[in-house]
Amino acid sequence: MSHSGPDRAYDVIVVGGGINGLTTACYLQKSGLSVACFERKLEAGAGCCTEEVLHPGVKVNLCACNLVTLWSPAYGDLELEKYGLEMLTSSEWGMFHPFLDRTAVMFHSWDPRKQYEHWKTIDAHDAEVFKTLYNALAPGMSDALQQMLYSQATKGPEEAEGPEGTAAMFRHILPDLPENAHELTGIELVEAVYRNDKIRTALLTNGVMMGALPWNRGEDAILSVIFPVIQILNSATWTARGGSHAVTHALCSCFAAHGGRLFTGCPVDSFVMEGDEVQGVVLSKHAVYPEAEIHARRAVVSNLSCHPTFLGLIGEEKLPDPVKEGVHAYRYDEGMMFTNYWVLDRPPRWEGYPPELDRAYGFNFGLESVDDIRRMERNLANDELPSPPLVAGLSVQGFSLADPTQAPEGQYTAMSWACVPYELPAHGGPEKWDEIRESYGDEVDRLLARYNPGMMDSVVARYCNSPLDYYRKNPSQTFGATRSGSAGGRWYGTARPFPGCGAPRTPFGKLYLSNSIWPVGTSTLGAGYVAATEVAKDLGVREGQDWWRHRPLEAGIEVLRRRGIEIELGIA
Ligand SMILES: Cc1cc2nc3c(=O)[nH]c(=O)nc-3n(C[C@H](O)[C@H](O)[C@H](O)COP(=O)(O)OP(=O)(O)OC[C@H]3O[C@@H](n4cnc5c(N)ncnc54)[C@H](O)[C@@H]3O)c2cc1C
Repeated sequence: MSHSGPDRAYDVIVVGGGINGLTTACYLQKSGLSVACFERKLEAGAGCCTEEVLHPGVKVNLCACNLVTLWSPAYGDLELEKYGLEMLTSSEWGMFHPFLDRTAVMFHSWDPRKQYEHWKTIDAHDAEVFKTLYNALAPGMSDALQQMLYSQATKGPEEAEGPEGTAAMFRHILPDLPENAHELTGIELVEAVYRNDKIRTALLTNGVMMGALPWNRGEDAILSVIFPVIQILNSATWTARGGSHAVTHALCSCFAAHGGRLFTGCPVDSFVMEGDEVQGVVLSKHAVYPEAEIHARRAVVSNLSCHPTFLGLIGEEKLPDPVKEGVHAYRYDEGMMFTNYWVLDRPPRWEGYPPELDRAYGFNFGLESVDDIRRMERNLANDELPSPPLVAGLSVQGFSLADPTQAPEGQYTAMSWACVPYELPAHGGPEKWDEIRESYGDEVDRLLARYNPGMMDSVVARYCNSPLDYYRKNPSQTFGATRSGSAGGRWYGTARPFPGCGAPRTPFGKLYLSNSIWPVGTSTLGAGYVAATEVAKDLGVREGQDWWRHRPLEAGIEVLRRRGIEIELGIA
């Protein structure tokens, strides 16, 4: 084959070269199918990108920053290290939550004993709760993640909240939990389990960071309770050498090495349909190959979120009524972030705080008590801009500490994500984000200066992004929703993106989803993995792939072991 453009047909077409679409593409190509992936932008991986938007040499990780890729079976199955991925972190302390009184709740990244000893200095009762939870949950965490993140959802919202669900299991571990634990919100459950208000606040804030909104019930509520256990086992607070885009690059290299074809600059305009079966794709007239029609012999996987897939690529007029209803009911109203990205002329120093904070990877700030979590719930429910801001989406100061290649010599990078709504009714609508972007950025600066004035004094450049900016950069991140749509409450599990869809399968022949499905599309690569698994099963290529065998957490444990760190699965 001498031409560089797409062939007329492939076994499988993947629409959208985000990290989950690429994960699906890699697995299916490696399983012997011919796969083409069409990406709208000139670079793949819109949600996991690194760009020099400030000045040369300052690598800005615009979206995914807290890389969770070491959890993923894909790390081993797809040999991502061989294709250039090197995971780095800045400290054994992954996360912390500072308070204005110069205390902090810290979260260790791999040593449960150090976590326990640290919490004992804050609250002996809560330290014992952590120990009990860790000893009960750590040995089974790989299996639990396989079930939660790397298998098709089997539970809907009702089962997640039901008395026989995970909450019941927790009552077995923590017998003091109230009988109605399964009915409690995250806030109520954390208050029932832990006694110290700073620990409670830090846990609930980290729940928000993970997408487990503390005002939800069921499994969302439980995630805040078990956050320190997850933090130790998840190897989450990592960057990659060269920036987050290295994850995308490793996937692209893997895909190409196995013969897959990635076409960038190729927005897909619509599906080719025959009745209710998807037969292929038509590229946009602005694509590098304008209006090219490419056929899919066996499957099409959409890595676009719910609305762009069903309303955009299929078209509202072709949707049966129940599907139309489900798609329109789907909400993109969780996980909107406002970013401040800073370049510093000296490394961060947390004067007056424990010294471990100076090199810790990430932190949240601006939430002093559980009341601030309640303020967040009120603000977001009413589309109000939190003032002062609530930085619960994560801040990172560890990029250039872990990987000096991410900033020019003598400079350091840091960022923060404040939780905000997309709609701004009080300001006149979401388009007003352009007018208030810098002033809201100033509010975040002023807030951080209350915790760390020296850090703000060392700022030499700043770059802010609003949810509207994110939406413009990637229409699949509709309204800037970082998790491709809401995931809690009525869109939990099998109900995501709508009840009866069967995601990653859909009501349309040959069409699968690897986005807006359960689990939410993060750098765990879970959504891409689940889509690959179900497509491979349906196409009869899953069996006999000896390389497709890794378990969640395995890679993280192995990478740490090579660095001389052994994760203990129990605290004596
Ligand atoms: C501000 C922000 C912060 C985040 N932080 C984290 C984090 O710390 N950790 C984490 O794990 N995750 C984080 N995420 C989520 C992150 O986006 C995901 O982890 C991941 O990158 C999503 O990958 P994906 O493949 O599922 O979707 P996407 O990256 O959205 O992939 C969809 C792809 O489709 C392309 N596309 C869109 N329309 C078309 C079209 N018509 N035709 C062809 N291609 C099209 C897009 O350009 C994009 O490349 C964050 C997201 C945002 C926005």
